[in-house]
Amino acid sequence: MIESALYIVATPIGNLEDVSKRAISVLEAATLIAAEDTRHSKIFLNAIGVVGKRMLSCHDHNEEERVELIVKEIEQGGIVALISDAGTPLICDPGFKVVRELVKRGIKVSPIPGPSAVITALSASGLPTDEFVFKGFLPVKDKELTEALALLKNVKSTTVFYESPKRILKTVKLMGELIPNRDLVLCRELTKAFESFYHLKTQEAFDFLAQDANYTKGEFVVLVGPSEEQEADEVSPKAYEALESLVEFVPAKVACQVVSKLTGISKNALYDKALALKNS
Ligand code: SAM
Repeated sequence: MIESALYIVATPIGNLEDVSKRAISVLEAATLIAAEDTRHSKIFLNAIGVVGKRMLSCHDHNEEERVELIVKEIEQGGIVALISDAGTPLICDPGFKVVRELVKRGIKVSPIPGPSAVITALSASGLPTDEFVFKGFLPVKDKELTEALALLKNVKSTTVFYESPKRILKTVKLMGELIPNRDLVLCRELTKAFESFYHLKTQEAFDFLAQDANYTKGEFVVLVGPSEEQEADEVSPKAYEALESLVEFVPAKVACQVVSKLTGISKNALYDKALALKNS
C-alpha cells in the first residue's frame, strides 16, 4: 500500500534496466508525476509501461510556483512522484525548494533510492571511498574555476565533480597545471554502451583526451584522488592560533621557530602565515 506523500524517485542514468521495482510501483501508483522535463520523462515512462499519467513540469524556473499544487494534491490524498531527467532528483537537479517547503510543513517526503552518477562513478573508480567530497558542477567562469581547482591542493579526501563534455578539456588542462601528480579518474557515459573509466595522473589527462575526439563525447564524472601533501606542512587551527598570539610579542621568525618546535609543522609552512599576521 503506497501512502499519500511526495516520493523522490531515482531513475536510470543511462541503462533503463537500472530502474527499481519500487520506483515502478510508485510511478504506477502516482496520481501526479512532477518532472523536470515532461516530454523527456514521457519517453522513459512509456519504456517502463507507465502511461496516461497526469504530469506537471517542475524545473529550476517554476519550482516555487509548483509547491502549492503539489501540497494540494497530497492534502487531497494524492500520491506525487518527483523525477528528473536522469538519476536522483535534487542531485544537481531540480526539487530542493519543493522538498524544503514540504519538510517545513510536516508533509511526508519519502525517497525511492536508485542511480546517481556521483555514487556510480565513485564505487568503481578505485579511489578511496571512506571519505569523499561532492562539489556538483565545476564553475564555468575561468576565475572561479581556477579558484575551485586550486582549493583541491590540500584536500585529503576524494573529490567528485560533474563536468560537461564542452568543458572537460579545459578543466583537465587546468588540473594538470594547478594540481599535478594527483590521481584522476574520468568516468564517461556510465551504464551506457560506451562506458569508460580513464585512470590518469592530472598532468597526463589533457594529452590523453586530446588524442581522440571520441574520448570527450558524452557525460562525465571527474574524480580527483586525495592530496598526499605532507601533513607536517598543514597549519592546523590550533597552530594558527598560537602563531597569532606569538607574533604580537616576538618577530615572525621566532614565532615560527616556537610553533614549529611545539607542533612539528615546518617553519617554511608557517612563515607566510606569520608574516601575513604580523602585517595585518
Ligand atoms: N541527478 C543526476 C544524478 O543523480 O547523478 C545528475 C544530473 S546533472 C544535471 C547531469 C550530470 O551528471 C552530467 O552532466 C554528468 O556530469 C553527470 N552524469 C549523469 N549521467 C551520467 C552518466 N551516465 N555518465 C557520466 N556522468 C553522468
